[in-house]
Amino acid sequence: MIPLTVPDLSGNEAAYLQRCIESTFVSSIGEFVTDFEAAVAEASGAVAGVATSAGTTALHLALATLRVGRGDLVILPDYTFIASANAISMAGARPWFMDICRDSWTLDPVMLEAALDDQTVERDGVCVHRETGERVAAIMPVHTLGHPADMDAIRIIAQRHSLPIIADAAAALGARYKGRPIGNLADISCLSFNGNKTITSGGGGMILCNDKSLIARAQHLNSTARLGTNYLHDEAAFNYRMTNIQAAVGLAQIERLEEFLAAKRRIARAYREALSDAKGVTFFPEAEWAESAHWFSGIVLEDGDRVNEIVADLTKAEIQARAFWLPMHVQPPYKDCPRGGSLSIASDVAPRVLTLPCSTNLSSGDQARVIEVLRGLII
Ligand SMILES: *Cc1c(COP(=O)(O)O)cnc(C)c1O
Repeated sequence: MIPLTVPDLSGNEAAYLQRCIESTFVSSIGEFVTDFEAAVAEASGAVAGVATSAGTTALHLALATLRVGRGDLVILPDYTFIASANAISMAGARPWFMDICRDSWTLDPVMLEAALDDQTVERDGVCVHRETGERVAAIMPVHTLGHPADMDAIRIIAQRHSLPIIADAAAALGARYKGRPIGNLADISCLSFNGNKTITSGGGGMILCNDKSLIARAQHLNSTARLGTNYLHDEAAFNYRMTNIQAAVGLAQIERLEEFLAAKRRIARAYREALSDAKGVTFFPEAEWAESAHWFSGIVLEDGDRVNEIVADLTKAEIQARAFWLPMHVQPPYKDCPRGGSLSIASDVAPRVLTLPCSTNLSSGDQARVIEVLRGLII
């Protein structure tokens, strides 16, 4: 079976794990955690990183760090992985869904601006959603599939309404926005190192931030808001820390970031070149101002009804492929959340996406086989 996406652990992973175990520092304190945080922050252009147990917990920690909580609304694009919405729920808040742009599949700044202008009022310096009376507390753009959101446009709108931005950058390590890396585009950006991401720590995540006081607050909340060596804690907080074992794997992985990014780009380009003559097939977008990290490769079918049948046929040929995210507004826990407007682009795109094998160690022979079988199905 050619897998959809599996990690390449053939670098220093085993050696660092061995060293980690021999040091006995296997828990949430250790040199690998510190080194991994520094390496990721440097690779993404951020001042500092705070490592966490997952991308989801990084998002929750970011929300708590910015004091987003019970009764709040957080603006979120309708097309994302459900973890973004779940983190908002974990904070006691609810998502307020906006549509995506067709040329990037990321948060639509036009809808964002119109919804904030028309559907909120400012009361005592607080942005309030008119219909529900809830405070609008933050904007959470998503760098969909590793493609950055249009952050300059979003930042101008956010500033006008005094809203902080938490970017769900889970799969975007290595992406660029107008030539800039993604660690410095939002108040806080959150990464994931889940097993299927471009680099993995087994499981894990990280907050990226440039504000020293926010970094300190995130670190404080991440270690139970403990005040000193006595057991006194000044807030209800978390233990979302990454372990040294996870960071040992992560550090070995990030040493190969450029190589992995180049592989992802090469794989995406090869599918595009080999399938560009197929009728009714398009590709994942890349806006002219963006350099996607190409977390996933795949195609977009004109006829979404064919996705499941093609997945089944590829599976029969021992090729793993999959349909992708559903819009958030159809997910049972989120179907009643407010909407900034029509979610028609997310609804149109989501059911037509088909993801294809794109492991960083996918051989050109295996990719040629995927292409050959797929051509037989769609041409
Ligand atoms: C992977 C992903 C997450 C979740 O990360 P975990 O580490 O699995 O918790 C969140 N948001 C997006 C957009 C993702 O792709």
